[in-house]
Amino acid sequence: MGAVTLLPRYDRNNGWFETLAEVPPAAPLSGPTEADVVVVGAGFTGLAAARRLAELRPDARILLVEAGRIGNSAAGRSSGFAIDHAHNIRSEGFADSATYERQQIALNRAGQAYLAEAVTAHGIDCDWTWAGKIHAACTNRGARDLDHFAATLDLIDEDYELLDSDATVARLGIDYYHRALHTPGTVLLQPAALCRGLAASLPANVTVHEETPVTWLDEGPPHELHTDGGTIRTPELVLANNGFAVGFGFYAHHLIPVVTWGSMTRPLTDEESASIGGDLTWGVIPAAPSGTTVRRLVDGRILIRNVYSYSRHSMAGGRFRRRAAGAHRVAFERRFPGLAHVPFDYSWGGALSMARNGEPVFGRLADGIHGALVHNGTGLSRGAICGKLIAEMVCGEGSDLLDGMLATGRPNRNLPDPLLGWGVNLYARRLRMRSGREM
Ligand SMILES: Cc1cc2nc3c(=O)[nH]c(=O)nc-3n(C[C@H](O)[C@H](O)[C@H](O)COP(=O)(O)OP(=O)(O)OC[C@H]3O[C@@H](n4cnc5c(N)ncnc54)[C@H](O)[C@@H]3O)c2cc1C
Repeated sequence: MGAVTLLPRYDRNNGWFETLAEVPPAAPLSGPTEADVVVVGAGFTGLAAARRLAELRPDARILLVEAGRIGNSAAGRSSGFAIDHAHNIRSEGFADSATYERQQIALNRAGQAYLAEAVTAHGIDCDWTWAGKIHAACTNRGARDLDHFAATLDLIDEDYELLDSDATVARLGIDYYHRALHTPGTVLLQPAALCRGLAASLPANVTVHEETPVTWLDEGPPHELHTDGGTIRTPELVLANNGFAVGFGFYAHHLIPVVTWGSMTRPLTDEESASIGGDLTWGVIPAAPSGTTVRRLVDGRILIRNVYSYSRHSMAGGRFRRRAAGAHRVAFERRFPGLAHVPFDYSWGGALSMARNGEPVFGRLADGIHGALVHNGTGLSRGAICGKLIAEMVCGEGSDLLDGMLATGRPNRNLPDPLLGWGVNLYARRLRMRSGREM
């Protein structure tokens, strides 16, 4: 290995991060150092990995290095749903195998539990609310998909509540949707605040270096990692940098780099908020796969997320951001016509990594190099548990959950660019068109 060929570049437009009360200055690595384990990437996966490594090996020196600011990468740009079961309610495979589905749910719930433990123990202020998620439909096709989802939830004995049109309006305030399905086991939260809180409460044997992209790896072990200002020598390396692992030479032809976008309004006034009615905070997942996610936030803002596009993780395109913000505007005004005058304060994109077959990267990548990557868009709870489990693997701790993760498949190989990009964008367009008014 040599130069790291793909690095994240996140600018300062992420509403979650920008509205945090206080972010202390970064402490980039400077000079040479050594560590027992280095974790690369401080999203939900890396934060959990570093915490668990430190818990299991209190005498070890753990280094967590992050290219940007913690809370300003994909983890802190997400929509803040820490889910227990699938978003994609029409996924053909969903609940085809009850055993498989229960395993997925157990993993997600273990991730939620690990996050909850830290939030409670350290009093992390991140608007953590067990509000559940509301899958909502505004089209007949969407309503049919909700019925299908209800039937599959029955198969795996999962709780839910179906809401008719009146109940949906009573819950959300807005009358855009005419049918909904509420599942209780999802946490809504402020993702950047959670990331910052998790980083600030790491055990004392973890040293965190933000604004420290790893730009070069001399593979060992011992491995030598180079950053702009320093070097680190370590026998054990954990990659928790999601799709950016391809920059280290892993799974370069298997991962699908995708960007999705969010926008956030200014806080509504009391009058504007009262004009909506309904519950003061909620999270809507669209009934259509490429539809619009909406959250009503505790600080009175509205969050809108939609639009997926293929991107080799380049966040640069202001043109793409403007286009996404335009789509968000349309979605917002359709749902909140009485608030059409309310502007967005922020619009941002974030990098996701997908696999065509939905499989993760988990386990040993090379001698002394481990990876917990690719959570296919549900990385809050899944990233947390995979980070915890990869740390347990490194420390030789076994569990059924770990065995389950080690037994999963791996991402399958893709067509080369530009075919892959065309294919993904075509697929995304087809889903968008199918979404209709769910967009
Ligand atoms: C707009 C949007 C909405 C989303 N909504 C949700 C949601 O509601 N619920 C949900 O579960 N998921 C959601 N996701 C997906 C979720 O954000 C990801 O699945 C999750 O962030 C993955 O966590 P991670 O820690 O594995 O990776 P990331 O959060 O991507 O973290 C990887 C980290 O590695 C760092 N890094 C990369 N390369 C290097 C390097 N060379 N040196 C040092 N550091 C490096 C990056 O800067 C980054 O901080 C959303 C994503 C987006 C973009």
